[in-house]
Amino acid sequence: MQQHWDEEADIVVVGFGAAGMAASVTAHELGASVIILEKAPEGEEGGNTRVAGQGYLNTASVESAIAYLTALCGPFTVPETMVQVWAEEMCLNNEWLTSLGGDPQEHQHPPVGIEFPDLPGADCVHKFHDGPTYGYSYTWKLFERLVKERPIRVLYETPGKALIQHDTTKEILGVRAMRNGKPVFVKARKGVILTCGGFENNQEMIRNYLPGVPYCYTSGSPYNEGDGITMAMSVGADLWHMNNYAGPSMALKVPEVRTTFSMQALHYSKQPPGGMIVVGPDGRRFADEKFKTRHGKVPVNGRWLPLATPCPMWLIVDHAHFSAGPLYDSHPSHGWTQIVEKYEWSADNSKELAKGWILRADSIAALASRIDVDPQVLEATVLRWNGACAAGHDAEFGRTLMMAPIAAGPFYAVEMSPSMLNTQGGPRRNEKAEIVRPDGTPIPRLYSSGELGSIYSYLYQGTGNLGECLAFGRVAARNAVAQSAWL
Ligand SMILES: Cc1cc2nc3c(=O)[nH]c(=O)nc-3n(C[C@H](O)[C@H](O)[C@H](O)COP(=O)(O)OP(=O)(O)OC[C@H]3O[C@@H](n4cnc5c(N)ncnc54)[C@H](O)[C@@H]3O)c2cc1C
Repeated sequence: MQQHWDEEADIVVVGFGAAGMAASVTAHELGASVIILEKAPEGEEGGNTRVAGQGYLNTASVESAIAYLTALCGPFTVPETMVQVWAEEMCLNNEWLTSLGGDPQEHQHPPVGIEFPDLPGADCVHKFHDGPTYGYSYTWKLFERLVKERPIRVLYETPGKALIQHDTTKEILGVRAMRNGKPVFVKARKGVILTCGGFENNQEMIRNYLPGVPYCYTSGSPYNEGDGITMAMSVGADLWHMNNYAGPSMALKVPEVRTTFSMQALHYSKQPPGGMIVVGPDGRRFADEKFKTRHGKVPVNGRWLPLATPCPMWLIVDHAHFSAGPLYDSHPSHGWTQIVEKYEWSADNSKELAKGWILRADSIAALASRIDVDPQVLEATVLRWNGACAAGHDAEFGRTLMMAPIAAGPFYAVEMSPSMLNTQGGPRRNEKAEIVRPDGTPIPRLYSSGELGSIYSYLYQGTGNLGECLAFGRVAARNAVAQSAWL
């Protein structure tokens, strides 16, 4: 039994994003004392929530929400009790935030409003955000304020490392964290709520759990490294939805910057001039580069599967495209690179060319040699693409947007890596937000919320993550606070 404690509270929340906010504010409103442990330094807390598009789901009716989530899960079924609680709570997000002084604004965003309009119950989807406009961390700013205006202590740069478990009862008694290189023992008199996000930055977990990607990077927080998964597994937790994620897309990742750069040319609604294709290591195209995936999934034989990303992939553009403006889509409404790193890409791409992020050659054959692709194959690919543009028909992949030939050189290549918004998997939780063991029994006094073990098993409706953070953050806090203190 742990004898020495450095800090204590009724409820210890691990991770300060949307789920951590919902759990800690709810626990506080119910009269509990709360400590939040946060890995990032002050100013970089907030995780993916800080840099998200800021939309959250508030469903229209419980019945339609049940139908829609059931359809989204498809053959990757989730227990009905979980779907029921999700649907009930997702209808209450606006009411809850309004009761705390929030100002929910319904978001009209036609291309991504309802992600799967043909599925039953899809009309339940209503997307909201706080503040004057979508994006720009506005909803996060409300969440941050709700925590900071309450006596909730946030210990920054204090990552949770391990859960402290009673030897015989297996109750979770607290958390061992680290601060300034030293262990900090934090007692949780009633319960611990894990809200420390996914494994977007843990390449070993990515290799082990995500389908089809040898590596993947993120446009979200660099601090989410799967710590909650390791901590929960160490005390006997089951895992679920580890193979599901909001990705992949194709983006630039360079060692100097922690998160990915999205390219103008690959954005489905942007049509910069000049020619652009993406090829795999065999020098051939492998997809409609401009297809708007459903958070990384594309239709294949009547099912939705993750976009194929044969690595390394290369974005190939001609001089007309290169000279039309920055290749990077620096529009700052969301994404860690834009919102937190604030990398300034040069207007004429010259800085990034000099850094070697963009490669240049006078001919397609010479460019092929620079990217280690067979020159004849790449030349044939470009010829085929230019023929498709002339015919107005991409027989290979059915692309219809930005149908411009790769015309005059010099030509340019940028390495594309698989990139994601966030993972969905983590410790399995039940309808009380308790983390459960493989046999379904709860680990006493251990709860979770958010993308760390989200409910989403297959298809994903945009804004579902933040909505779920709010919904299950409240559920977790209500059940944890209802416990009697162990000491
Ligand atoms: C670019 C982008 C756009 C998105 N847009 C939307 C959107 O519009 N709507 C939507 O619903 N979803 C969106 N998502 C997904 C959504 O942002 C996330 O799924 C959601 O924010 C997860 O919230 P969370 O509270 O579970 O985790 P996070 O918000 O990621 O917070 C986790 C926190 O835990 C901290 N942490 C990590 N490890 C530890 C540790 N060991 N100890 C203590 N703290 C730790 C992290 O630093 C972080 O502060 C987007 C994601 C991205 C990247």
